[in-house]
Amino acid sequence: MNKMSIKDVNVKSKKCLVRVDFNVPMKEGVITDETRINGALPTIKYLVDNGAKVILCSHMGKPHNIFTDGFGLTKKEKKAVEKLPESERDAAKAEYLKKALKDKEKFTLRPVAERLSEKLGQKVVFAEDVVGPQADKAVSEIKDGEVVLLENTRFEAGEEKRDEALCKKLASYCDIYVNDAFGTAHRSHATTAAIVEYGFVKTAVCGFLIEKELSVMANALENPVRPFVAILGGAKVADKLKVIDNLLEKCDTLIIGGGMAYTFLKAKGYEVGNSLVDTEQIDYCLGMMKKAEDLGKNLYLPVDVVSAKNFPDPIDAVIETTVYDIENIPADVEALDIGPKTAEMYAEAVASAKTVIWNGPMGVSENPCFADGTISVAKALAETTATTIIGGGDSAAAVTNLGFADKMTHISTGGGASLELFEGKKLPGIECLNNK
Ligand code: AMP
Repeated sequence: MNKMSIKDVNVKSKKCLVRVDFNVPMKEGVITDETRINGALPTIKYLVDNGAKVILCSHMGKPHNIFTDGFGLTKKEKKAVEKLPESERDAAKAEYLKKALKDKEKFTLRPVAERLSEKLGQKVVFAEDVVGPQADKAVSEIKDGEVVLLENTRFEAGEEKRDEALCKKLASYCDIYVNDAFGTAHRSHATTAAIVEYGFVKTAVCGFLIEKELSVMANALENPVRPFVAILGGAKVADKLKVIDNLLEKCDTLIIGGGMAYTFLKAKGYEVGNSLVDTEQIDYCLGMMKKAEDLGKNLYLPVDVVSAKNFPDPIDAVIETTVYDIENIPADVEALDIGPKTAEMYAEAVASAKTVIWNGPMGVSENPCFADGTISVAKALAETTATTIIGGGDSAAAVTNLGFADKMTHISTGGGASLELFEGKKLPGIECLNNK
């Protein structure tokens, strides 16, 4: 990687503004998954141990911009209220305001500061604002080796809007900007990229998490040990058009599962019943199959499916299932998982691979009736000695829930960011950093 990291600069006594990804899942004020906090620890510990003044910032969730708009309505909510009949406006307004008031408790980073403090074994000063008086005070008083966490950056409207004044103020808090939030590296927000892009900080480097994510994934994409197998699943073809296109060029075998497989099968002339089909993407699928053929790449599609008469409701409801070969899918069923023959075929492709990347479930894996395809792919990855990379999201959850996490070479902390890497895109949060 040609970007500078914290190891390439002298951090001693320097104020380091570190953009981390503390967007952790919370339930009633309790953190339910600490993976993201743990992911940021190596960078934070290194900076502390090397005498930096560590000022952390992160967003959490999608709250009201309460530091900008007060506890008032957002522009979107104001518009929604205006569209309502006069008689319903007051009630709707009251509902929105109630929600805004709750956002301060629901999306505060205070519990993260407390947990982080326990993990580091030292005090983490929590500022209840992002660029307000508390942040000013904490930053002006910070000493070498100390840690401050600013409040949720998305409480400021300027975070997502790349507000220049917000960037300038945040830049005044630091000598060095460090980005270690891989999960938001594909976003161009104030704290993820704009602060550097506007030229307000001159020294901008990455932390260890971004360094690791990039070196594993960029290496697999650019210099894979072959055979290189890419597995894509998930609901819609339309969400992964560029990913399929780019990966076909890089890999030797592209395996397609999940809802997106049925638009390909339809394009090949199969009847797929009520399965997910995006008629607007039929030509695209034909184009991709032609591209695979022209490039001499394998493109694997399901040969059998697990189906049901209806989509399960609720999603985890146990319902009757039937397996069909793709030539025989009846008109009144929906294919909700790859079938056993397909699972075996995909597992064999994985077994003979030297590099595998995977993003997206093979079926409606939230439901045990349609989870076998995803489980068998996860098992195949766990059993191979190949380099295995999981691109976040549902496939990462599947691998972790099955207890296979430590059998994978790398599980990305950023589903969206890793998909954009698979698309061949440059990530703004990384592009803005200083080159070596
Ligand atoms: P994505 O967010 O694109 O990775 O898609 C994940 C979602 O795709 C999951 O919620 C799955 O339930 C859904 N999915 C996977 N396979 C199918 C299928 N055959 N039919 C409908 N939805 C599916």
